[in-house]
Amino acid sequence: MAKPGLLVVLSGPSGVGKGTVCKALLEKDPQLVLSVSKTTRKPRPGEKEGLNYYFVSKEEFEEAILAQDFLEYAEVYGHYYGTPRQKVEKMLQQGRNVILEIDPQGALQVMKAYPQGVFIFLLPPSAADLRSRIILRGTEDQESLQKRLAAAAQEVAQAEKYNYVVVNDRIEAACERIYAIIQAEMLKVSRNKELLQAFAKEVGG
Ligand code: 5GP
Repeated sequence: MAKPGLLVVLSGPSGVGKGTVCKALLEKDPQLVLSVSKTTRKPRPGEKEGLNYYFVSKEEFEEAILAQDFLEYAEVYGHYYGTPRQKVEKMLQQGRNVILEIDPQGALQVMKAYPQGVFIFLLPPSAADLRSRIILRGTEDQESLQKRLAAAAQEVAQAEKYNYVVVNDRIEAACERIYAIIQAEMLKVSRNKELLQAFAKEVGG
């Protein structure tokens, strides 16, 4: 049986740039696969079914909740988002490293369900930076901006539950740091017991 892959969870406040960093990381690390989530929000221009998300109705999503099909799910600013459990488990069993790019409510659920995962909190360089990123995205009104900033404050307060914190000052730099985390995690003794046992057996005759 292949050594199980790593489950890497990339989370952080809305607007920190999780999606952009995750995309860059997938280009840099060919061993890494993205878990494609299900969502009830409508596709944005250019988004593709099965590539960015599986776009489903609210009814379909709620059925999947009842069937316990999600490793985690959450309502994020009015829409449901969830990680399909079976696909992730299958990829991990095949020895693939899987990344989830999810909101902090979901990350906390995965910590309980799969504590051997690698939990990375992506932090904006400053509050002012986060504010301007959300404004630049141009999709939020004043009320929604305030909501996101208040949520960010709460989410950062929970960051100590994660294994790593990475500041997203530059996409390339953040991507390098996360790549280094993944490489180091794969070399942990706790994840390489079989390799050590096989050597001990061989050398012992
Ligand atoms: P967007 O609608 O901009 O693609 O995503 C909105 C938020 O939902 C982002 O913070 C994104 O990380 C989060 N998100 C995407 N997929 C999932 C998921 O499967 N589970 C959870 N909990 N959050 C998700």
